[in-house]
Amino acid sequence: MFWTGELIARSAPVRRRTGPAYPPHIDRGMAAYLGLAIGDALGATVEFLTPNEIRHQIGLHSEITGGGWLRLKAGRVTDDTTMSLALGESIIARGRVDALAAAEAFDAWMRAKPVDIGNTVRRNLIAFRQTGNPEAAASEHDAGNGAAMRVLPVALACYGQPEKTTKIANAAQAHVTHHNTLSDAACETLILMVQDFLAGRDAVEVERERAGKLVNDFPVFAYDKRRRENPSGYVVDTVQAVFQSFFATETFEDCLIDVVNRGGDADTTGAIAGMLAGARYGLDSIPKRWRTALDANISAQCQAQARELLASQVG
Ligand code: MN
Ligand code: MN
Repeated sequence: MFWTGELIARSAPVRRRTGPAYPPHIDRGMAAYLGLAIGDALGATVEFLTPNEIRHQIGLHSEITGGGWLRLKAGRVTDDTTMSLALGESIIARGRVDALAAAEAFDAWMRAKPVDIGNTVRRNLIAFRQTGNPEAAASEHDAGNGAAMRVLPVALACYGQPEKTTKIANAAQAHVTHHNTLSDAACETLILMVQDFLAGRDAVEVERERAGKLVNDFPVFAYDKRRRENPSGYVVDTVQAVFQSFFATETFEDCLIDVVNRGGDADTTGAIAGMLAGARYGLDSIPKRWRTALDANISAQCQAQARELLASQVG
């Protein structure tokens, strides 16, 4: 009946899906994970460039082409995605978010020689090897974005559970490398926002409630002032750039293009913005060319893990 399908496709203005249809929260969870990986792959090309350098070297950066200081093949991802996948695997294997299991998963990830690794992540994983304690010492200096970039598995595993469960679960994964008040606040806010979007909540409400609370509790995160360009790996810079792009745009594509063209820690702002945008807009919103360009193995892992974590109901 091949030609029947053709006929329908030509005659009816019906959107053709390439895969099975999922319930909305699963569709959005898968889109969040693909968004994380796509933002990482897109942003890595311009990581550590300034917006001016991007303009001169590329123009508007809008294609997944690889390269950058890591000399990536097009479609490959970096630590933001691979640490998330390592954490997600540990949650699925252990049946819950467990600090020791997460630390062991990150340690195994580091031994496998990842393409990039943050200084705080490296230092505190080496400390874990020496002490066996999966919780890093609290430090006001460890306010990098390394824990915030990998929160998605926790958001998915704890979806539908009380906020308190989510916060405890986040502390378990985040404090392996980043035991810091600002990092914690950013991580929790991002997780709750992803869960809000999975539940279909409206962006205006989510901004007021979640981003508003973050800025109210920690005014340093205020993002309504100066345009944040060239954001560093400081979690405050990162979140400001992401929120400015995310809340000022209305499509997945516009959000990601806006945020990565700010340069700086662009793979990480791309990853976090992509996660939020995927959760907000769903699978159909992701440009085909980006889905095709993303490494096929990573794409499959992200989609499968999103479904498994949502089904796990751990926390
Ligand atoms: Mn990275
Ligand atoms: Mn980065």
